[in-house]
Amino acid sequence: MRIILLGAPGAGKGTVASALHEKYNIAHISSGDLFRENIKMETPLGKQAYDYISRGDLVPDSVTIGMVEERLSAPDCSKHFMLDGFPRTLAQADSLDRFLAESNREIEAVVSLLVPDELIMKRISERRVCVSCAAGFSLTFNPTRVEGVCDHCGGQVIQREDDKPETVLSRLRTYYEKTRPLEEYYRARGLIIEIDNSKGLQPTMIDLECALRDRDIEFEGKS
Ligand code: ADP
Ligand code: ZN
Repeated sequence: MRIILLGAPGAGKGTVASALHEKYNIAHISSGDLFRENIKMETPLGKQAYDYISRGDLVPDSVTIGMVEERLSAPDCSKHFMLDGFPRTLAQADSLDRFLAESNREIEAVVSLLVPDELIMKRISERRVCVSCAAGFSLTFNPTRVEGVCDHCGGQVIQREDDKPETVLSRLRTYYEKTRPLEEYYRARGLIIEIDNSKGLQPTMIDLECALRDRDIEFEGKS
């Protein structure tokens, strides 16, 4: 399967993508995680992205598109991948179409994760992340066994700088302005699958897997 996960910050794109990755070993490409890795490694790309991310603005397309397209060129993405956090602008979406066409690939579905605004604010404020392996946790839904320590790798678990309330509002504003229009863009092509992600991961996974099967999108026993 080749899908895009769309949704506001905190809608659960990363959680759903991680669950599908665990279950079916489909490549999970998170632009946010790619940026955070680059920032941690202090690469030139990380240095370019840092200020935008800490303000809650989008990193310019000129930086973002190349980074994601490079990742999509890796062998593990040749047939199956999930994009989480990309595209976020119409220019990114256009570029993605052209890039995939060069290798005879196309997006098969765009999953729009729906969550009411109140829940988004609550989820983001409770979200924690491992600085070493990027695993996500929540203070209420899936807390770490030991406070501040990653269950998977023992790394340090913290609140992302841009998950603090000052920055969240600006990220939400950016989402409505720049990313929301992508819904219409993909809806016009019949690609949108709407999934309610306000009831927890299990019901979301059941709805999503049904919708993917309905559309004959390959994901189980994929090779
Ligand atoms: P969330 O999904 O919770 O908003 P992400 O980890 O996807 O968080 O993104 C964190 C930040 O990284 C964004 O606020 C933005 O600054 C930057 N970013 C991620 N993806 C993109 C993208 N496709 N285009 C531009 N900036 C991006
Ligand atoms: Zn970890």
